[in-house]
Amino acid sequence: MAEVHNWHLEREMSYPYPGARPKRQVGFVFDINRCIGCQTCTMACKSTWTFGKGQEYMWWNNVETKPYGGYPQHWDVKTLKMLGPQAWTSGGYAGKTVFEKKDGDLRDESVGYLPPAPEWRFPNIYEDTATGTSDKGLSLPVHSNFFFYLQRICNHCTYPACLGACPRKAIYKRPEDGIVLVDQKRCRGYQECVRACPYKKTLFNTEALTAEKCIACYPRVEKGEIPRCVAACVGHIRLSGWINPPDKAREDNPIDYLVHVRKLALPLYPQFGTEPNVYYIPPRWVSRAYLFQMFGPGAEEAIEARTKPDRKLFAVLKLFGSTTRTIERFVFDGDVVKGFTANGKAVVEVPMEEPFYVRPFHDKAHEAYRFNEP
Ligand code: SF4
Ligand code: SF4
Repeated sequence: MAEVHNWHLEREMSYPYPGARPKRQVGFVFDINRCIGCQTCTMACKSTWTFGKGQEYMWWNNVETKPYGGYPQHWDVKTLKMLGPQAWTSGGYAGKTVFEKKDGDLRDESVGYLPPAPEWRFPNIYEDTATGTSDKGLSLPVHSNFFFYLQRICNHCTYPACLGACPRKAIYKRPEDGIVLVDQKRCRGYQECVRACPYKKTLFNTEALTAEKCIACYPRVEKGEIPRCVAACVGHIRLSGWINPPDKAREDNPIDYLVHVRKLALPLYPQFGTEPNVYYIPPRWVSRAYLFQMFGPGAEEAIEARTKPDRKLFAVLKLFGSTTRTIERFVFDGDVVKGFTANGKAVVEVPMEEPFYVRPFHDKAHEAYRFNEP
């Protein structure tokens, strides 16, 4: 085991390999508040990557209903139990990560488990099922009864547990973009990665007998385009791009701005220790204790910022779903937010206020009468 720095935990931690951050790291922000659970993202991914034999049960992207749902069922509850007590102090995370909490099996580099087949049955089991007690009544903004949609893909972790566990060294993290891939020629289907991934985002192809996982749509990313699940999102809840570590954060990079500058978007279960690169804007109506467990101690501050967004933050939230190109840099002049590609080309301009046109009742040029709805 090597010692590496995990900025989510604000401390060093053990990992099977020495730390090697990629030149650039692909990153995502998902705004849970906007998701309508339509599964368009899920089907966009399915119809692109997992429609073959042996992939029938496989959902690289899924949207599950929390707190009861999970794909595979109970994935997070089971892993959290294995971790033991998870304390956060002013100095960072004081509990154990999946790499530090051994389960007694000397084979294992990290804790984990192999879900039994029935637990992979549904990508959104307990759809729209709330929890809580109704006798307290509803109180806004925190409901005593709540559910929300959690959008899940591979986190292309900085310290991937799947990679650390593979006895064949078949899993690798690309230095050019941080995308985590399985080398299909090297994989022998031992499923150590399936066991080790705390997010359960490595899956087993029952026909090819190898492990497969979300590839962050790398053929699109290489061309400066956004992944399919991001492009297809009906609710415009997804933004993809590049995430830097805190000491290299750029204020004009929309992902850095949301994660580092405004601290609005948070990692999912940072206590697992993999430093995941998908960040979530937490839902405003949910039990704060639940959000604390899921997103760590930043949840309250993030909800505060999301509830009263200032004009610049609102502008960046308007970039979600605005273009199919990767936005590397944004500029906001107070009225319009512009997004630029890597070579400086402006690919999107979003006004803060939509222009409002009142058409003349009688259009003489076309000899037409037009009615404006109030
Ligand atoms: Fe590996 Fe799981 Fe992290 Fe994806 S989410 S990189 S499969 S450990
Ligand atoms: Fe949610 Fe967007 Fe997926 Fe619909 S397409 S379920 S809004 S993330």
